[in-house]
Amino acid sequence: MHRLLLRQLKRIYPDGVPDEPKLDMLIQLVNEGYQSFEEQLAITERSLDISCNELNQRNMTLNQILDSLPDMSLWVDTQGNVKDIRSGNFDPPLLTSEANYSNIFELEIVRSSPELQKFIRNYQISGNKTAELNMHSSGTDYIMRVRLTNITPNSWLLVFRDIYVRKKLEELQAQRLEHSKRAAKQLQELVNAAPIGIIICNTQLEIIMLNEFSCQLLKRAKVEVVHRHPSEFIASQSHKLFKKRLRQTLEQGEGVATTSCDLMLLLPDGRFRQVEFAFNKLSFDDNPIIIMSITDIGERKSLENKLRKLAATDALTGAFNRRSFMEQTETAISTCERWKVPITIILLDIDHFKQVNDRYGHAAGDEVLIALVKHIQQSTRNMDVLGRLGGEEFALVLPSTDNQLGFEIAERLRREVEAMEITSGDNQIKITVSLGMATLPYEHLSTPIEDMLARIDGYLYMAKGKGRNCIIHK
Ligand code: GH3
Ligand code: MG
Ligand code: MG
Repeated sequence: MHRLLLRQLKRIYPDGVPDEPKLDMLIQLVNEGYQSFEEQLAITERSLDISCNELNQRNMTLNQILDSLPDMSLWVDTQGNVKDIRSGNFDPPLLTSEANYSNIFELEIVRSSPELQKFIRNYQISGNKTAELNMHSSGTDYIMRVRLTNITPNSWLLVFRDIYVRKKLEELQAQRLEHSKRAAKQLQELVNAAPIGIIICNTQLEIIMLNEFSCQLLKRAKVEVVHRHPSEFIASQSHKLFKKRLRQTLEQGEGVATTSCDLMLLLPDGRFRQVEFAFNKLSFDDNPIIIMSITDIGERKSLENKLRKLAATDALTGAFNRRSFMEQTETAISTCERWKVPITIILLDIDHFKQVNDRYGHAAGDEVLIALVKHIQQSTRNMDVLGRLGGEEFALVLPSTDNQLGFEIAERLRREVEAMEITSGDNQIKITVSLGMATLPYEHLSTPIEDMLARIDGYLYMAKGKGRNCIIHK
């Protein structure tokens, strides 16, 4: 029986409990109630024990965390008495001794900082919870973030965090950003002022800057070009070379001599523009960049072509001069060797040309020469080579032409010239030509041209002897 029930029964029945079945049953019931109450109580006590342990554990962990934080924390009551201090990780320490608890306004760091005093005093008035303060202690400058928290109605937690390094880093970062912006602006101004196209890429080959000149060369607006890969604006036939040069530039050290090459730009309308690209790798604001300068060489190329043509042709008639004629003939012979076809060469000399000059004047003679060349050029194929070997002597090379066809062509030319009427002033001038001709079958294409020409010259001489306006051939 439960001890409390036993005590109660002894009090009610000092002489012993009467032996009554009903009372006995009631006592049994009450006893069971007591027992179950006791069990509940035991369970509750146990769970309270557990919760207490847990709370203690958590408190310990919290303390450990607070201890390991670099911040300094002070527990203060409403009168300003410091109840606990964690000095944190300050170097040199902000407080000389943790044990020396006193009123907060007597602490050295508070006394030396009117700003901090003001912050603590204002706390109760304005409820300011955080402030960034410049503080000075033991010869060291601090930038401190101070936070005051009301933990219970009569205690605060005052936490000091040193943000000096972070602040300085932020300042440095801001300075660097400003510097970068300024440098980028200077670079853009420089690029804009350049009298050639300039495109700048990062090492990921993304276009980061270009000038107006490049836009004109590319025939595109800046927004269409920025952030794109430069090869998007290069014609496919130039891709391989362009990528090779880019790779070389990327791999080379900075400041190495510029590499350049001629490339084709792909314009938006599908046409091409011939340009010269110069590649350079430079360091800008500590980052490597690739600078590509672009020069339009379309005009230069066409000038070069004109000059090359001028150097290769006879100024009066436009036929190849002797040197170029020989070069072109060599090329034609090589082609015939490859194709295993014969080649025919005709020498042609105007008959009694001296008399033309004497009768109509030298200028008229020139007009005759021009008209003759023009006629032969129109009357022959593009692959045929016409050269002026001397005053009024010409050579015509007919690749892939056998002796019979060659003779037919020579005869046609002879008849056409005979029929020509060249107008010079009021005069209608008529001429004839004498021709010598020979064919080299492909087996004999290695014969030197000079020998061949000498042989044909012999035939031409024979044609003159035969009375002119005729062809001697073999
Ligand atoms: P042949 O039938 O024997 O060839 O008689 P030809 O008079 O044509 O030959 P010749 O060699 O005696 O004279 C060639 C003339 O061609 C002499 C020269 O004044 C003239 N000649 C050479 N070059 C030029 C030229 O560039 N312009 C003009 N107008 N005449 C030229
Ligand atoms: Mg002549
Ligand atoms: Mg002559």
